[in-house]
Amino acid sequence: MRTIEHWIGGKLTPGTSTRHGTVWNPATGQPQAQVVLATRRDVDNAVRVAADAFAEWSQSSLSARTKVLFAFRELVNARMDELAEIISDEHGKVVSDARGEVRRGLDVVEFACGIPQLLKGDYSDQVSTGVDVFSFREPLGVVAGIAPFNFPVMVPMWMYPIGISCGNTFVLKPSERDPSASLLVARLWAEAGLPDGVFNVVHGDAESVDALLDHPDVAAVSFVGSTPVARHIHARATATGKRVQALGGAKNHAIVIPDADLDFASDHLMAAAFGSAGERCMAISAAVAVGAGADALVEVVRQKASAIRVGPGRDAASEMGPVVTQAAKDRIVGLIDSGERSGARIAVDGRGLVVPGHESGFFVGPTVIDQVTPEMEVYREEIFGPVLCVLRADDVDSAIRLINANSYGNGTAIFTSSGEIARRFQRSVKVGMIGINVPIPVPMAYYSFGGWKDSLFGERHIHGPEGVSFYTRAKVVTTRWPNVEHATGASYHFPTAV
Ligand code: NAD
Repeated sequence: MRTIEHWIGGKLTPGTSTRHGTVWNPATGQPQAQVVLATRRDVDNAVRVAADAFAEWSQSSLSARTKVLFAFRELVNARMDELAEIISDEHGKVVSDARGEVRRGLDVVEFACGIPQLLKGDYSDQVSTGVDVFSFREPLGVVAGIAPFNFPVMVPMWMYPIGISCGNTFVLKPSERDPSASLLVARLWAEAGLPDGVFNVVHGDAESVDALLDHPDVAAVSFVGSTPVARHIHARATATGKRVQALGGAKNHAIVIPDADLDFASDHLMAAAFGSAGERCMAISAAVAVGAGADALVEVVRQKASAIRVGPGRDAASEMGPVVTQAAKDRIVGLIDSGERSGARIAVDGRGLVVPGHESGFFVGPTVIDQVTPEMEVYREEIFGPVLCVLRADDVDSAIRLINANSYGNGTAIFTSSGEIARRFQRSVKVGMIGINVPIPVPMAYYSFGGWKDSLFGERHIHGPEGVSFYTRAKVVTTRWPNVEHATGASYHFPTAV
């Protein structure tokens, strides 16, 4: 079986571990590779190599950096289909969806191509007589990225293009469930002319993550994953003085107001709930039907969910692929069972789905659960699978209260034709990313991405302007070039502008 190794200092390396993880093909349910799981020594080696590379890369000119960034952009663009197929084979999502993920990641690379503009400082002439002030930003050092399985290309691309273009060197710890795409990315960086050691990939599990969090030469950590791990990352890495942004899980609600176009709203609900088998942090997992019309919404949703074509990600006819592992499938099925036990109505049941020719694949069909109430486990837990829960609310304000009572605050959406209701919604919800008739409001690369409450620990959102700020620190320089003929003597009061 193929062994997936680390990429350190511009080349593949097996590391020192005897531990391996299994990489499955979710469509067949068969193992397809084993990935090495780094030890503390391997992590230390990667950080040391990155620290050595920082000495030169941090001093490289903005034009040298952007030359590499533009070349990398071209290479990712040219290899988009290959990257999408690697993602599909290990994650399970359909290839067209995987291509969309690479495209959205590339948006961040393109944003980072503009780094000379983004790193411009300020200059104030004559703040006091003969005194000028200017500011600029410097890179931090070695920065680490720890990524989830569900976007093996896009989520790391939220991090390293900005980190590297700001002059830092990078150690990426991808998900051990779908690690291969990061190695092609590493090769593309090398081909683009990035010096060895600036971008490194260390594979592993909790042991390697904790080694990164504890390492004295790691200056900052970007994490995207589930809430319990995000909380752990934030606590442990801030304890050793690191800068941390830790994005967590989600439970995203879409409110459907009776004045919304039912066909439009239900089409978009389908895509947001079942695209990528619901394994998106911005997936809609709870639909809140407001007032009259809930039964009509559930009926349309039932028909459309039942018609979704489920099959292997590589089959162009598939609209939805399998989930990532057998453990994920068991967990999702267990949560649907719990919804049923607690009195919710299973309107569409994906539990028994079998895909002919792929009987051992990790498939769960689209599932719609109606009459869900907030105290049910199926509502409280992040399911991270193709399951849409439908709740009911008497009016808009009680729907907003429901969203605000939820511990997560990543994304939310409203379907309505009323500007007044939409505005009330956008101003009242305690959620970081909001869609008005847009169910997956993932901000473009030149805005920043991030949720509130248990969906993000740390002060700064990821990519966009906050990404540049996260990966740099400011210096402010106050200058005076005295004319000795007009020199004044020493004064002992605190300096003020004159
Ligand atoms: P996960 O938290 O299990 O794993 C994420 C990363 O943390 C992986 O690299 C993993 O190796 C590592 N890890 C796992 N357990 C650890 C531990 N105990 N200690 C240290 N490191 C550990 O998440 P996942 O299952 O890979 O991804 C799905 C989750 O990610 C969902 O909760 C989803 O909502 C979330 N997610 C959030 C966003 C966002 O932007 N907020 C985006 C994508 C995914």
